[in-house]
Amino acid sequence: MRSATQIAADVKSGATTAEAELDKSLAVVAARNEELNVFLYVDEEGARAQARAVDEQVRAGAELGRLAGVPIALKDNLCQRGVPTTCSSRILEGWRPPYDATVVERVLAAGAVAIGKTNLDEFAMGSSTETSAFGPTRNPLDPSRVPGGSSGGSAAAVAAEMTTIALGSDTGGSIRQPAALCGLVGMKPTYGLVSRYGLIAFASSLDQIGPFAKTVEDAALLLEVIAGHDPMDSTSLPEGSPSLVAHVNDGVGAKRVGLVRELIEGADDEVVASVTRAAEVLRAAGAEIVELSIPEIKLGLSAYYLLAPAEASSNLARFDGVRYGLRVDAENVTAMNEATRTLGFGAEVKRRIMLGTYALSAGYYDAYYGQALKVRTQMISAFRAAYQQVDLLLGATTPSVAFQFGEKSENPMAMYLSDVFTIPTNLAGEAAVSVPFGLGASGLPIGVQLLGPGRSEAALFAGARVLEIAEGR
Ligand code: GLN
Repeated sequence: MRSATQIAADVKSGATTAEAELDKSLAVVAARNEELNVFLYVDEEGARAQARAVDEQVRAGAELGRLAGVPIALKDNLCQRGVPTTCSSRILEGWRPPYDATVVERVLAAGAVAIGKTNLDEFAMGSSTETSAFGPTRNPLDPSRVPGGSSGGSAAAVAAEMTTIALGSDTGGSIRQPAALCGLVGMKPTYGLVSRYGLIAFASSLDQIGPFAKTVEDAALLLEVIAGHDPMDSTSLPEGSPSLVAHVNDGVGAKRVGLVRELIEGADDEVVASVTRAAEVLRAAGAEIVELSIPEIKLGLSAYYLLAPAEASSNLARFDGVRYGLRVDAENVTAMNEATRTLGFGAEVKRRIMLGTYALSAGYYDAYYGQALKVRTQMISAFRAAYQQVDLLLGATTPSVAFQFGEKSENPMAMYLSDVFTIPTNLAGEAAVSVPFGLGASGLPIGVQLLGPGRSEAALFAGARVLEIAEGR
C-alpha cells in the first residue's frame, strides 16, 4: 500500500485523483466491512464531496494541503458535523453533532477525505472493542482475534487497508494497544499537544487524540497536521505544531535509552524477546542502553481505575435523555433519566460509572480518589527522575499478541491488565509510541513501546524509525 505521503504527492502531481483514491478505499470497505465490522458509518456522500473539492483544487492549480486526497478513518468518539457519532453506545443513537472536532477540521483542511466513523469499545472503555453496543471489530490479520481497543476500528481500518491513516484516542492505551495488536505505528502524544475539542470525553485529564499509520513517517505527518494550540481547549499547550516529519530520520545516536524492568515484567516471553532485540538494534544505531527500574509503574493500573472512572462518572452525567440521542419516555423526568441510562449504557460503562461514583462519594473520596491523585503525582516525579538519567524509555506495549474473542471479556481484571504498560504514560501526561517489531509464534505482530517526556514526539518517532528500518520497512 502506498503511504499517505505518496498519495498526497501523486494527487498533487496528477498521477492519481482524490476520487480514484476514494474509490479504492470504498472498494475495500465494501469487500471487508461486513466481516470485520470496522466502520459503524460510511459517509460516502460526504467523502465524495471532499474528494471532488480536492480534485477541483488540483485543476485550479491551488495550493494543496499535506493530506490532499488521503483517505482517513475517524474513531466514532470524534465529532464530525452532521455525521452520526455514537461512541459505540446506544445512548447516542441518532445523534448528529452540530460541529467538527478541531482534529476533524484540521485533517479536512489538509485535504484528507474522511471515509467514515470507526467502531470502538463503548465510550472508549475497553481493550478489545468487545464492549461496543454494535458488535466487536475483528482483527484483519486474524479475524478470530480482537484488534485491541478501544480504538480497534481505527486500527483495523488501516490494517485492512481501507484507509492509509486513522485517528484514535488514548486514555490508558487505546491507540498504542490496538496499534500493537494490528501491526501499526500508533502514538499517544503529550497531554495538551492535540486539541480535545470535539472529542467526546471519557477521562478528560488523560484523554489524547493521536495517529495510526503503517509507517512512522505517516504517523508523524498526521500528528503534525492535528497538533498545535487550539483556543477551544483550555488544556491545549500554547505552542504551535512541532516539526516531526523533518526529524523522522534523525536516528538515536548519542541518545540514552532506559530499558525499564517494569515495562516488560509479566509479558509473554516472545514479547520480552522483541523488546530485548529492539534494545540491541538501538544500541547498534548508536544509543546507550541503560537498564533501570521505575517501581511506581506498578501502581499505575490501580490509580487509573480510580481516576478514569471518577472522571467518567462525571463526564457521562450529561447523557440524560434530554440533550443527546436516546430518550426512553417515562412518567416524570427522573424516571425518564433512569430509564434512558438503564437502556442506553452497556455493562462496562455502568461498571465504570459505579466505580467512579463510589470513589468520589463522601467518606471515600480521600481514601480512593485522593489517594489515586497522590499516586499520580508520584508517577510524574518518578518519570521526571528517570528522564534526568536517560532521554527515552523502552518497554513492551502489551503483554501479549492479539487475543481471542471472549478470552478476557468475562473477566474485567484480565482485560484491564492489557494496559498495564501503557497507562503510566497517560497518568504522567507524557508521550509514547508503539511500533511493530517482530512477530510472535502465531505469526501475529508484536509492538514495542518507546516513551519520552512531554514534547519528545520527534525523538520518539526517530527512535521508532530506527526499529522500523531494522525490520526492513
Ligand atoms: N483499556 C483502557 C480502559 O478500558 C484504556 C481505554 C482508553 O485508552 N480509552 O479504560
